[in-house]
Amino acid sequence: MYDYDLFTIGAGSGGVAATRRAGGYGARAAICESSRVGGTCVLRGCIPKKFLVYASHVAEDLEDAAGYGWSISGVSFDWPTLIRNKDTELDRLNGIYERMLSNAKVDVLRGRGRLIDDHTVEVDIDGQARRVTAERILIATGGWPEMPQIPGIEHAISSNEALDLDRLPERIVIAGGGYIAVEFAGVFARLGVDVTIVIRADHLLRGFDHDIRLHVEQEMRRIGITIRSACKITEIRQAGNHYALDTTDGVTIDTDTVFYATGRAPNTRGLGLEEAGIHLRDNGAIAVDDYLCTAVPSVFAIGDCTDRNNLTPVAIAEGRALAETWFNDNPQIVSYENIATAVFSQPPIGTVGLTEEQARLAFANIDIYRSAFKPLKNTLSGNEGRTLMKLIVDRESDRVVGCHMAGPDAPEIIQGVAIALKCGATKAQFDDTMAIHPTAAEEFVTMYQPVAAAAE
Ligand code: NDP
Repeated sequence: MYDYDLFTIGAGSGGVAATRRAGGYGARAAICESSRVGGTCVLRGCIPKKFLVYASHVAEDLEDAAGYGWSISGVSFDWPTLIRNKDTELDRLNGIYERMLSNAKVDVLRGRGRLIDDHTVEVDIDGQARRVTAERILIATGGWPEMPQIPGIEHAISSNEALDLDRLPERIVIAGGGYIAVEFAGVFARLGVDVTIVIRADHLLRGFDHDIRLHVEQEMRRIGITIRSACKITEIRQAGNHYALDTTDGVTIDTDTVFYATGRAPNTRGLGLEEAGIHLRDNGAIAVDDYLCTAVPSVFAIGDCTDRNNLTPVAIAEGRALAETWFNDNPQIVSYENIATAVFSQPPIGTVGLTEEQARLAFANIDIYRSAFKPLKNTLSGNEGRTLMKLIVDRESDRVVGCHMAGPDAPEIIQGVAIALKCGATKAQFDDTMAIHPTAAEEFVTMYQPVAAAAE
């Protein structure tokens, strides 16, 4: 008899979702965590980041106010107040997570877990090793910021520290052009920081639709962000109270803060995984099959430590699917098709389905519908920001296979459209849907003329 039916290592979104649901179904469940309960999303990622994004949008709203007749004077912004309020809310959320686990009768062990064998985990609790056994072990240890090992990299901060800076720097250089880099670039720029992004590629946001990438770059430049493409930082030197960054361009950039957002690595080191027979991929990600099972039949893994779709809702869905399968006699396999995603850049991006580039490879003939416009809200305000919306349609089946937007409210709008794509909606059904007027979202049901077609 094992101590538990399920033992989970890592109390982030995925681990908590699985273990809590297991406990809710009456399983004897426990979880260990070396930090606070909540994981990256709640404590160091999505949620605190979104608070900063909200704060930065206030700056834009204040600028827009004059055109709508408001005169606002004596405006000031206090970064420490924002950080303090953010931390208070995170404490509250941490408390909610703790309560959810205790309500589901899940034991929480406060320490780092290490796999000993197929059914045993050792948890280091304040230097005391405690061994527990479980019928099933779930690894949900997430990821951690990764930086290239260049000289002076110890001076760089990651997103972890960016969320807790004591004060706003005057200048910041952000290395990387993915989700985290563009989101923080927008936040800092709107809050008045001089922002430079340095990317090794020609464009930001590899993997996103090309038109969207270009549009967001243009909008980011419009709000004052400098983007240095095809460039890498080769050395970070401390120069008095600031930093000098040598680059492959031959240009040296002076800055107050260097922020690396060059991807996240699976958090799998020191967990005893390979010793226990679990296969890791080259980048340290845990290899799992369709049922989220590792090479050891009693050990499973979900979320960012498997480095597949590194998104909170995916980790949660995976965790719940396992708990349903094991403890509710309700076998489930997660569907990874048409996962909608958002980047909270300025403007934000919402996207679901294939990019134009992917669709051209997947289908013989596609039609592209595109609409670029100034949102109605930006007319009186004089705000020069523009929105881009795009639909990609497989001509043979008439199915909408990709839907992309960069503009205000894009993530909110795309979440709804994602349901339609998941249901296999056709362009004719989009057209048959009555518009809500006046909105930006209505463009998705009123695009009549394709702008480009794949090779005829
Ligand atoms: P991403 O993988 O999105 O982007 C990494 C960026 O760093 C790319 O621009 C990449 O360039 C660049 N890069 C990688 N290695 C180097 C290097 N050695 N030197 C210079 N540049 C390098 O990683 P992020 O850190 O932005 O985010 C990690 C993950 O977190 C995301 O993939 C996403 O899954 C998740 N996330 C999701 C969010 C959301 O849903 N809104 C928000 C934040 C994070 P290149 O393009 O050339 O490869």
